[in-house]
Amino acid sequence: MRRAARKRRTRQLEQVFEAVQGDHTHPFAHEIYRRVHKRLPRISLATVYRNLHSLVEEGKIRTLLLDGQGARYDPETSEHDHFVCERCGRVDDLFLWRARRRIDLTSLAKHGYVVMTHNLTIHGMCPACASRRRLSRPSRPAARKP
Ligand SMILES: [Zn+2]
Ligand SMILES: [Zn+2]
Repeated sequence: MRRAARKRRTRQLEQVFEAVQGDHTHPFAHEIYRRVHKRLPRISLATVYRNLHSLVEEGKIRTLLLDGQGARYDPETSEHDHFVCERCGRVDDLFLWRARRRIDLTSLAKHGYVVMTHNLTIHGMCPACASRRRLSRPSRPAARKP
C-alpha cells in the first residue's frame, strides 16, 4: 500500500516536471495542471502546486514572479533575465550576460551592499507585436494594385 502511494507520488512529480520541461513560455501553475491532468485525471491542483514547489526546492525548475501576477514556472535554471511583452503578455528568456552586457554592480559593493543575485525584467513589445503595430500603422499607404 505504502509503496503504491510512493510510486504514485513519484509518477505525479515526473509528470509535473515533464509538463514544465521544454516549455519556455513561463506557464502558470493552472496551465501546468491542465497539461498534467490530461495524463493523470485524478491529480489535484494542490498536488501540482506541491510538486512544483518541490521541483523548485530541488533546483530543477525556477519560479518567476512578475508584478501583479501569480508565480510562473521556468525550466531554464541558468542565470537569465526576462522580457515581458506588454501587448500579448509573453515572457521571453534573455541571456544578456552571454553578450557581456551584465549590469555593473561594483558601485553597490563600494557602498557596502553585498549582492547575492539580481533580477532584470525588461518591458516592451515582442517582435511579433512590434511588427503587427508597424503593419497597422496608417502612416504608409497600402500598395495599390497596378
Ligand atoms: Zn507580444
Ligand atoms: Zn526564464
